[in-house]
Amino acid sequence: MSSKVFPCPAAKKCGGCQLTNLSYEEQLSFKQGRAVKLLGKFGKVERILTTGEPFFYRNKVQAAFGRTRSGEIISGVYQSSTHNIVKVDKCYIEDERADAIIVTIRKMLKEFKLTVYNENNGTGFLRHVLVKTARGTGEVMVALVTGSREFKSKKAFCDALLNRHPEITTIIQNINNKFTSLVLGEEQYVLYGEGYITDILMGKRFIISPRSFYQINPAATVLLYETALKYADIRSTDTVIDAYAGVGTIGIICSDNAKKVISVELNPDAVKDARKNAKINGIKNMTFVCADATEFLFEMAKEGEKADVVVMDPPRAGSTVKFMKGVCAMKPQRVVYVSCNPETLARDLDFFVKNGYKVKKIQPVDMFPNTSHVETVVLMSRVDGK
Ligand code: SAH
Repeated sequence: MSSKVFPCPAAKKCGGCQLTNLSYEEQLSFKQGRAVKLLGKFGKVERILTTGEPFFYRNKVQAAFGRTRSGEIISGVYQSSTHNIVKVDKCYIEDERADAIIVTIRKMLKEFKLTVYNENNGTGFLRHVLVKTARGTGEVMVALVTGSREFKSKKAFCDALLNRHPEITTIIQNINNKFTSLVLGEEQYVLYGEGYITDILMGKRFIISPRSFYQINPAATVLLYETALKYADIRSTDTVIDAYAGVGTIGIICSDNAKKVISVELNPDAVKDARKNAKINGIKNMTFVCADATEFLFEMAKEGEKADVVVMDPPRAGSTVKFMKGVCAMKPQRVVYVSCNPETLARDLDFFVKNGYKVKKIQPVDMFPNTSHVETVVLMSRVDGK
């Protein structure tokens, strides 16, 4: 894409894509510049990796349902930091099949005389639709998030939806009647299929459930994970720690080469999925710990345990000094830091370079084209004698 004219008519109102005034080449230079500015002091910043495909990459799509003042049922996204729904039928960064399913559901509401949820008084039925797609297998999950459990003509509705979209492999009803900005509620029922979808990424299978975290740009995830794996340079005698592990993806990809992988994650649902993921891939050399990564690393270091490689992928806020102290005490030869926020990454790298590590490689990856987000993988190695 070299045109500067971003095709989405809702771009301004929606606010989800911040770089629509730039051509894709300009976006890449902008992100490269940001990475160099924040991380250049640690070493050479490699040229940003891209799939070359800035559109329709999101494998997870969620639409809010509501009514306009004139009563028309609409679906789309919340205008940034508000609860006003911007009507979006086709988003240029979302999976096209997912958007088509959402439009079909909106049309079906009238046919089935179903209402949409009203956030102001808690009445009405359909609140959100979440669609997840597994690009590696083609499987599609639809989660209907409703304000109440009662679902009139549930079976007929699902049959009609499956008839129009035979690509759907599972349908779930999730109930959310709380006053909250979270999309999913606690209670859910499988209406069709298994209740989850399975993806294949880098030769491994991963289960994706409605709630579990899974990288949203599958083609760019391969670039990211391949870089992390190359940097980790794992040998058959290595003990690897995968911290902030989500559903275990990075650790699972590392496990073929390693002696042992310890996966640490705070969210119990993600840990459950990670265990299942290891099982369906026949992996025997991984252990899964549900804990705060900081506390776990601190304890391991206190007990004098060692690791050869630490891979860490913390959320936007970055890691903690206590975690990094734990890592440094365990003296891994290599630390691979996967970051979705170059600001907190720069802060954390500062700590590592003052505590026995040298930055060897810095690789930005364009995981989220058209948005201002920058993903980066950094390789650090121990400075000998420290
Ligand atoms: N590496 C994974 C997930 C990265 S997202 C992947 O590539 O898919 C960051 C993960 O860190 C989330 O799953 C989140 O639940 C987890 N997390 C956040 N704070 C944490 C903490 N203090 N300790 C352990 N995990 C944490």
